[in-house]
Order: sequence, then structure tokens, then C-alpha cells
Amino acid sequence: MIYFDNSATTKPDKEVLETFAKVNENFYFNPASPHAKGLETEKLLTSAREQIKNLLKLEQQSIIFTSGATESNNLLLTGMARAKKQFGHTIITTKLEHPSVLETVRALEDEGFIIKYMRFKEDGTLDLEHFSSMLTSDVILVAMMHVNNVMGAILPVAEVAELIKGYPKIHFHVDCVQSFGKVPLHLEGVHSFCLSGHKFNGLKGQGLLVFSQLKTITHTVFGGGQEFGFRSGTVNVASNVALSRAIRLTLEDYEMQRARLYQMKEEIERYVKQFPGIRLNSQHNGAPHIVNLSFVGVKGEVIVNAFSRRDIMVSTTSACSSKRAKLNETLTALHVPDQAITGSIRISLSKNNTAEEVHRFNEVFREIYQEVEELLEK
Ligand code: PMP
Repeated sequence: MIYFDNSATTKPDKEVLETFAKVNENFYFNPASPHAKGLETEKLLTSAREQIKNLLKLEQQSIIFTSGATESNNLLLTGMARAKKQFGHTIITTKLEHPSVLETVRALEDEGFIIKYMRFKEDGTLDLEHFSSMLTSDVILVAMMHVNNVMGAILPVAEVAELIKGYPKIHFHVDCVQSFGKVPLHLEGVHSFCLSGHKFNGLKGQGLLVFSQLKTITHTVFGGGQEFGFRSGTVNVASNVALSRAIRLTLEDYEMQRARLYQMKEEIERYVKQFPGIRLNSQHNGAPHIVNLSFVGVKGEVIVNAFSRRDIMVSTTSACSSKRAKLNETLTALHVPDQAITGSIRISLSKNNTAEEVHRFNEVFREIYQEVEELLEK
């Protein structure tokens, strides 16, 4: 089997699984318990938190362990918007965001917040001039992703941070789920960000919210007050220790893996570009692990099934929205034409993939192309 759906999720590293099992076996105690075993378990949790802070080179920021980026985004956006509503009601985001941002801001709209969306130019780049014109004194929150999960587009976090600098009331949140381990993170001017373990060979159900002004959000989960009061519930110590291991492993050979991913991406792009009726949607200067292309005139699902029958797993636009009937909002916002959106597939790579797999993918691509060729709009 060739697995090219790594933006949906990745295979956990063996070391991560071993860490998870070991900690569960030996430190299954509640870290809030007052006895010796509880204290030992708490120590382990503290050291995982410290390790992550060191690995990510965080200084003043705090880390809240969550069940993943969906929870991190919900917690931050809801908690921050509600905490800041005496200062303003406008939230700025993009149509490219993951549903955990888009649906949360839609829910906040029902609470009376005003949601505005950044605009993208015809060439797919963010219209910074337009963004700048949206910055009024009513804006309290700006939320954007670093790398888009559908197209692999890299968003200009540093430029946005620079523009926000003059507005001290604005909190700037960045979803780094698809960029961590793939694209360098520049965190200057970023007030919070989130990560998700299963996107970098960690486990599903583990994530982080990194936060620079912890006291400034309202609580959304009430209970025993764990995670500084922001995320009540008995802490999953084994998962959090395993997450610190996954972060360490990712950063250990990051430069080398990044170069490998770019090579594999380029190989696929170079190959598919030669076929008439194939539209390359992702940009060459995007993230190293995502290729998005369209069989114009054929449904993406048909192509995904054709690959799947040959034991190659690719995806339509994104696992989170592929079951919905509407056109993918990311591709629409980035000006991909409707017929191309319908026929789009996403190939997403990880460090586990090889040049041989890319070679096999390209062979199968040709086979499938020949099967559907007469249906394509050239
Ligand atoms: N943001 C982005 C950009 C994502 O790609 C995903 C996962 N598809 C999420 C957030 C949600 O992450 P999780 O699965 O950890 O909830």
C-alpha cells in the first residue's frame, strides 16, 4: 500500500507508540493525586511540558495540552472572543481555514460577533493591502493558518503579524497544524498557535495550544481545573509525553526531511504537468508535502477510487470536508475554477514516503489518465 494522504493523518512513529504504552503501563496514576505515584506522574507531565517548551524555543508562552487542534482552535477562539468583547466585536480570518476555525467563528457570529474574511489575489497570494484596510479599532482577533491543508499554500504570517503590531487590542492566533515540521515557524508577533500530534507521526487525540497571555481567555470547559483551569478533565499524561517525543523526532531530522519532501513533490509536479487536461492547483512555492491537482471534467472521487483500487491512497480535497456536497471553500477562495474543483485530488506526503513510491504513483497516474482521457476538458 502506498499512503499519500498524510495531511489527513500520519502513521505514528514506533518510538511514539512505545512511549505511550510505557507511560500508560508505569505511570497510569492521576497527576492530581497527592500520593507519591501521583506526584511522580505530575513530574513526568511537567517535564514533557518543559521539553516541548525547549524544543519549540518558547520563552514566556504557556502550553495547554488538548485533544488536538480542533479543540485548541475552539478553546482559543471562543475563549478569546468572549474575553475581549468589551473592546470590540470584529474577528478577521480566511475562507481557507479548517472547519474547527470556520465553524467556530460562525457560531461566534450567532453570539453577535462580526466575522470578516481576508481576500486572496488571482495568483493565490493574500491581499495584504485589503487586510490592512480591514484593521479598525473594533478588531479583537485575527486567526489564520500557516499552511493550508488542501492546497499547501503558505500564508504570510510574518507580514500579517507586522501589520497587526500597531493594534495592541488584537490577538493573533495561527493554526500551525500543517506547517509544523514542514515549513519554518516564525512566531514573532504571534500570540497563540496550535499543533496536532497526528499530523507529524504522533497520535490522534493529542494536541497543543501555545499561548502567551494565558489569563486573558474565558473558560469554556469547566471542571477540576486542570491545564491551568483552561481544560478541565484528568490529564492524559501518556499521550502528552508521547507528544513531546513526536515533536523531538520531527525536529531532529527536519531539514533533511523537508528537502526529501520537496524532491518528491517536484517529481510528481514535473510528471503530471505534461498531461493535457490536468491542472496543477498547488503552487510550486507552497509547502513541501502537498500537491493538489485536477482532472478537469472528471470527478475527484472517481480518480481517488481508481488510485485506491490500485492500492494508492490519495484524497479528494480534504478529509474533513470531502463528504460535504458544496465546493471546497479553500479552492474557491483561491480562484480555482469550479470544474477544476470538482475534479481535484490531493496528494500529501510524509517522511515515511519514498522515491520508489513516487515512481509507482506516476506510473499509475498515467494508467488512470489513459482510462479517463476522453472525458477530460483539454
Ligand atoms: N487545522 C488544520 C489546518 C488541519 O489540517 C486539521 C486536521 N485536518 C485541524 C486543524 C484539526 O486537527 P485535529 O485533527 O487535531 O483536531
